[in-house]
Amino acid sequence: MKIIASNFKTNHTRKSTLSFCEELEKFITQKKAQNQSFAHQIALFPPQSALLDNHFKSFQIGAQNAYPTQNGSYTGEIGLEQLAEFGIQTLLIGHSERREILKESQSFCAEKFKFFSNLGFKIYYCIGESQTIKQQGNKAVLEFLESQLEGIDLNYSNLVIAYEPIWAIGSGVSATLEEITQIHTHLKQKLGKIPLLYGGSVKPQNVREILSLEGVDGVLVGSASWEISSFCQILENSL
Ligand code: PEP
Repeated sequence: MKIIASNFKTNHTRKSTLSFCEELEKFITQKKAQNQSFAHQIALFPPQSALLDNHFKSFQIGAQNAYPTQNGSYTGEIGLEQLAEFGIQTLLIGHSERREILKESQSFCAEKFKFFSNLGFKIYYCIGESQTIKQQGNKAVLEFLESQLEGIDLNYSNLVIAYEPIWAIGSGVSATLEEITQIHTHLKQKLGKIPLLYGGSVKPQNVREILSLEGVDGVLVGSASWEISSFCQILENSL
C-alpha cells in the first residue's frame, strides 16, 4: 500500500474539481474491481474555494492550508469552522510555497500542527531544502530538514511527512533515485514508522521507480496530477 497525494495548488475551479473527483472515484472503483492489490491511500488537496463535501469513498479530500483557530478575525484565512462545514479532517502543513512565498515560519507551522493534531486531523507535513542549502552539502541539508521538524510531535499517529526538495518542485526534473534514497534513509531513522512521501516533479514516467525505493511510502504530486488522465496514469503506474 502506497500513499498517493495530489496538490492542486491554485489550479482548478469548484466545477472542475467536482468532475475530477467523480472521474477519479470511477477510475479507482474500476481498478479495485479488476485488481485486488489496488489499495493505495489517496488524498486530494483542491484550492480552498473548491473544498467539497467529503462523500467520496476511495480518497480523502484535504485542505492546502488553514489558520489554527475555530473562527475569528484572520482575513483571507479559513479555520476549523469552515473546514468542518465540508467534513474536512485532512490538512497540508508546511508546503514550501507557503514557507517561501508567504513567509510562514517554522514556529507558525508548529503552531498549526499543534492545533490541528489536537483535533485528530490527518496531517501531511512538508519539509524540503532550497538549492542554496543543497549547495552547502549533505550535512547542511540534513540539519535544515531537522530544523523543519522542530515543534512537530513525531509520536503523533496521524502524521505523514513529505520530503519535497524545493529545487525539484515544478522543475520537471525530480531528485535522482540516489538522492531520494540517501535523504529518505536518513529521515527514516528519525521518523520510525511515520510514512514518508517524496515530492518534486513526480510524473507517470518516474513514479514507479521512485515508489520502488526503500524508505519511500508514497508520493506528493503537483503539476502532473492536475489532469485527471495524468493522475490516473500515476495511480496505474504505482501498482
Ligand atoms: C509540490 O509542490 O508539492 C510538488 C510536488 O509539485 P510538482 O509535482 O509540480 O513538482
